[in-house]
Amino acid sequence: MFGVPPVASLSDVAPLLAAVGRSFHARGWAFATAGNFSAVLTREPLVIAISRSGVDKGRISASDFLEVDDKGVVVGGDGTPSAETVVHLAVVGERGAGAVLHTHSIWNTLVSEAAGAEGGVALEGYEMLKGLAGVTTHEHREWVPIIENTQDYEEMIRDVKAVLGLNPQAHALLLRGHGLYTWGRDLEEAQRHVEVLEFLLEVEGRLYASSGKLKAKAAGAAEGGRDGDR
Ligand SMILES: [Zn+2]
Repeated sequence: MFGVPPVASLSDVAPLLAAVGRSFHARGWAFATAGNFSAVLTREPLVIAISRSGVDKGRISASDFLEVDDKGVVVGGDGTPSAETVVHLAVVGERGAGAVLHTHSIWNTLVSEAAGAEGGVALEGYEMLKGLAGVTTHEHREWVPIIENTQDYEEMIRDVKAVLGLNPQAHALLLRGHGLYTWGRDLEEAQRHVEVLEFLLEVEGRLYASSGKLKAKAAGAAEGGRDGDR
């Protein structure tokens, strides 16, 4: 249903992206204005469709998407593109992705914070991993790198490109205390990756909670303890 051909128009793709956005809101993965969604329209020259800034994802519609070029300049539609457009463009450039999706779920926020000092989270041994492109066995080990969050988008882009270069097999990355980025060759695959990763990060987060890994963080914060990592 959500497949996007290699060359597509904004009017074709925007309703599909909007439906994905509303479904993520309904699942609790993109509340309020959080999250952003994009798909490649043309590769040469590169033009992507991306959600505009400040849209409530429960109400996002086809008119909330813009066309931007490889520099992030709006070339179609009205409004300001998401501040994180640069991350979408970096993933498209580095991975050749056809679609990039970004969610702010409770579990991806908790896990990215709790595992942030380790630089990533390993997802291993789960049948659900087979939903990731190219993965054929539950014995796969998926390393999801975690990048420190920042409002300095130039720094963020440097970090995103570096981590993608260091982890050529990765299907996703996390911004610490912020959210998940994943992608796919098309919108259907990217959406599947969100579902797989949100499932696995919730599994991991519940394990963290039962082992005290989340509790330890909360206790430190409640005591006003030192936290040099943030
Ligand atoms: Zn975000």
